[in-house]
This record gives sequence, C-alpha cells and structure tokens, in this order.
Amino acid sequence: MPTIILKNQQIINHQSKMIPVSEALNLIITHCKTSRVEEKSLPDALGYALAETLFAKMDTPPFDNSAMDGYAFSYALWDKKNPLKVVGEVQAGDEYRLKIGVNEAIRIFTGAPLPPDVDTVIMQEKVERNDDKIILLDENLKQGNNIRPKGSQTKKDDLALEKGQSITPAGISYLAGMGYSKVKVYAKPKVSIIITGKELVKAGDTLESGKIYESNGIGLTAALRQLNIEPVSVALVDDVSEAIEKVIKNQLSSDIVILTGGVSVGNYDLVPAALEKCGVEKIFHKVKQKPGKPFYFGTTANALIFALPGNPAAVMTCFYEYVVAAIDYFTQKTHLKSLQLPLNNDFTKNQGLTYFLKGKTTEKGVEILDSQLSYMLNSFAIADCLITLEEDKTNYKKGDVVPVLMIA
Ligand code: AMP
Ligand code: MG
Repeated sequence: MPTIILKNQQIINHQSKMIPVSEALNLIITHCKTSRVEEKSLPDALGYALAETLFAKMDTPPFDNSAMDGYAFSYALWDKKNPLKVVGEVQAGDEYRLKIGVNEAIRIFTGAPLPPDVDTVIMQEKVERNDDKIILLDENLKQGNNIRPKGSQTKKDDLALEKGQSITPAGISYLAGMGYSKVKVYAKPKVSIIITGKELVKAGDTLESGKIYESNGIGLTAALRQLNIEPVSVALVDDVSEAIEKVIKNQLSSDIVILTGGVSVGNYDLVPAALEKCGVEKIFHKVKQKPGKPFYFGTTANALIFALPGNPAAVMTCFYEYVVAAIDYFTQKTHLKSLQLPLNNDFTKNQGLTYFLKGKTTEKGVEILDSQLSYMLNSFAIADCLITLEEDKTNYKKGDVVPVLMIA
C-alpha cells in the first residue's frame, strides 16, 4: 500500500483497499437495516409491498347475483314451452324476498341479488317482451347461466394476497371489495441528499467563471421520484469540513444519506473525514468499477451512507447499481428489472474493473452507446439501461449475453 512519509512523520495513506463490485453489493445488503412496517389506508398503499399475508374477510361476491340486465327465473319451474310472466323487479342494491312460481320471472339488473329459488338469468337482448310476458329466444341458455355465485371469487378465509406482493390499483380495488380499508406495508426509507462542491451554482443563478450548474441533486431527486420516493431534504454545501460535518449531522436521522462529490483523493475531498467525525463507520471506500471508483459506503446505528463521486454519470450509475439495492431491501420490492441480453456491438475494456455502460435496448438485444465518460450525461440521457461488463473480461463480442439493469 503506497504511503508518503512527510518530514514531520505524518503519514498520509492515499489508498483504501479497492473491492470488487459483488463484494460491495454484498456488504451493502449485509448492512441494510430491517424494513419498517407501517399501516396505510388503501388508496395510499399503492406501490408498496404488503408486509402481511391477507385472507378474504368474507365471501365475494357476498350473495348470488345477476351478471346481466335481463330476467331471472327458476329453470325447474319453467315448462320450456310457454312464455314467462314477469311478476316483479329487483335492482342492484335491493333485497327481494318474494318467491316465484311456475312460469314466472323477475326483471333483474346486473349486480342485483337473486331472489329465492331463482337460478338462471336470460339477458334482455335475448327475450321478446309483450306487456308482462317474455318469450325466451336464447336456444343455448342453460340452467345457471348469467349468475355470479356467492363466494365464486374468494371464500371467507381464502388466501387473498401474499406478503411481499406489490400493491397495484387492481389489488387495492380487490381488497376494498372484501372490506379491507387499511393494510400493513413495508415503509419507504427516509432519504437525504447532500451535495458538496464549491464550484456548484443552483439552476437559474448566474454562472460566474469557474462555476458549473449543480445537477446531481436534481438528478438524484428525479431518480428517487422514479421509485416514488421524495427526498426529505437536498442540501448544497461548500467544500469546507465544518460545513459538511454540520449538514451530515443534521441528516443522520434519515434511513439513507446520499452524498455526492468530495470522496476522491484531492485536497478538497473532505467527505470521508467529515463522515468519520460524525461517527459514521466506513464499510468500504473504492470499488473496482468504472465509473465511480471512489464510491464510499458507511453506516451508523440507524443510517446507510452512500458517498458517491461527484461526476454526474458516476452518481447516477452508483445510485442505480447500489442505492436502489438498499431501497429494494428496505421496501421489499424490486424496483428495476434485470435482464440478460445479447450485445449489439463488440467492446474492449480494461481488465480489473467492472464496467457499467450506458445502453439502449433494441429488438435484437442491447446497444452500447457512445460517450461513456463519467462527466458526460449525453448518452445517459437517452439510455434505458446499464450494462454490466465483468471485471476480469476484456473482449466482448457482438452476441455475447450480458446482464442489463433497466432504468427507464
Ligand atoms: P468530485 O467528486 O467532487 O471531485 O467531483 C468530480 C467532478 O464532478 C468535478 O468535475 C465536479 O465539478 C463535478 N461535480 C461534482 N458535484 C457535482 C454536481 N452536484 N453537479 C454537477 N457536477 C458536479
Ligand atoms: Mg468536489
């Protein structure tokens, strides 16, 4: 491990042990905190993963009812020759207690409960009605047609939805239909964003010489929103140790703190030391990857701290490849789809680093885009996936199947 020994014997260690991507991911997952469970009212539970297995509270439908607007009758009490006499009407929401007799029918509407003894409904388009008489024109009509029997979807205490199931709008409607109003779900993590860099100017402000527009905080906010998470705060801080420490301390009550910038080896890369001063335990610093080699990960008792190198493409890549893994663990949901796709082009890389490349899926497979450098976002802006090329491989050929993480 190279070190520089100064005259006053102060030792500056310029290197942390670089670890492989797989180890970095494992360490992150190992340090993920237990997911919190919270209760949500049904429409608000949309998109969360269920933290409990739910059973049907009741039979659904709760009573036999008509699947059609038409006429209900007893198949056994119809002589199959004469017209039926319409002796009553039942609408959805009504209760009908009168019994019907031989060759009698009841006018009925979709969702209306079946009167006693009635077991068959003929749709209104298939009858000829004259005053109170109907002639049945449906030759294929069978006993039991056009009925939705009680409990035909779920019987009371049947499995309704399994723990871990992601709640969709249809799932919400389904649960509401069996009387649920609240469910237990895995909570979303509280995420804070801290952006460091003296050179950064907020969008809309005048750009003086030497300055650049701040884009990581805005990009990360958008990336979190893609997962339906709103950051609890986005702080912008100068490259000054005390200032960085102050803002870190303020955000350590969050579940996840994402910092950008200041984690590399320059004199103004003050974030790792500031984190240490705030009581953060370093788990690793530097990963054998491109982009984002100086990526730092640490923890406190409550929080996971992702300190990402400031180059915008490195920030977005580390977010998708690592931060999302922690968010997935927390929420018990897989937010981004992983695929295996054949490459559309050859690619040569250096050995010893995993490459995450901006890609675009096509009908044939996946294309590696141009402009892969970590300060460039022009390709990232049109990419729909990140392609992983292995640490030890150097030559990839068209047709080689590679892991792809869908990001759009
Ligand atoms: P650093 O990791 O602080 O050394 O920054 C690496 C590069 O990313 C430098 O060129 C920075 O100017 C740039 N950079 C850092 N943070 C941001 C940001 N929030 N928005 C845009 N560029 C940034
Ligand atoms: Mg910086």
